[in-house]
Amino acid sequence: MKVICKSCKHQETVDKDFFLKVLGGVVSGFGFWSWTAFLFAGTGFAMPIVIAIIAGGGAIATYSKEITEWLIENHECEKCGKKDWIDEEQYKALLKKEKQLEEKRKKELQAKEKEHQKNIKEKEAEHNATKAEKAELEAENEDLYEELDKLEKEKIALNDQILEIEQELKNTTEDDKKHELLSKELEKLKNEQQENTEKQEKWHKRRFLEKRVKIYSNIDFKKKSLTEYSKLTDDDSISLEKKLGLLQYNPDAVTTRCKIQATKFLEIGFGSQGRMYVLQEGNQYHIYKIGNKNTQNQDINYLKSLKV
Ligand SMILES: [Zn+2]
Repeated sequence: MKVICKSCKHQETVDKDFFLKVLGGVVSGFGFWSWTAFLFAGTGFAMPIVIAIIAGGGAIATYSKEITEWLIENHECEKCGKKDWIDEEQYKALLKKEKQLEEKRKKELQAKEKEHQKNIKEKEAEHNATKAEKAELEAENEDLYEELDKLEKEKIALNDQILEIEQELKNTTEDDKKHELLSKELEKLKNEQQENTEKQEKWHKRRFLEKRVKIYSNIDFKKKSLTEYSKLTDDDSISLEKKLGLLQYNPDAVTTRCKIQATKFLEIGFGSQGRMYVLQEGNQYHIYKIGNKNTQNQDINYLKSLKV
């Protein structure tokens, strides 16, 4: 049998000689028989243990627990001076436990590292997506301003033409053939001007909505749906915004009409005929399309073509 110092891993073979060494100081000079007498009388071991020690060999191992406990009380480690003994079995168990702990720690570290790498990849993907989205928005903005610029130039040109024709009209009389032609031309130009003004109003309305929907942090309008939103009547626009408010602050209160077959889109009604098509991701709502009862079939075909 062996005992091991838990503190410094120093090992001792427990046999007759070991006890002779342990008890050496006490029994020196008394000879073998007085030594055995001391084992019986002085150690406090029960008789069978003392017999096992004297017999030696495998018999000692039978009492390894009692002997180890006795050593913890009575014998200091010659290497480190502590009395922190364990027997071979306990030592093996301890090593096994340490190994298991080490493996567990290693696995935890590997899992953490894996998680860390995953997070980095996700962050990178997120970052790239945001970058792409920003670039797209910037390009879109540029297009929009170009459109406004074009409308503004057209308006100025139209105004010049109108002024010119009005001037010419003054120089003709009502029964003049030219007068009739000029009047028709003037009417056409004024209509064009009216259309131009309406287009500009729509442009401003869309820009305004673009800013306005940003107050709903959980709602994301796709390009197409925002344009559709800007084309709604005032009443429908208000009905739609009520639903946006609910999606943002109380989504459980929103009743969906149905889920579009073979897609993840939800159909949410608003106003009397309005339909809004939404994709939910956690607490985020992506609005892909806004239509009404009449455009339902083509809206659904469009959503299916998106393959999201
Ligand atoms: Zn030691």
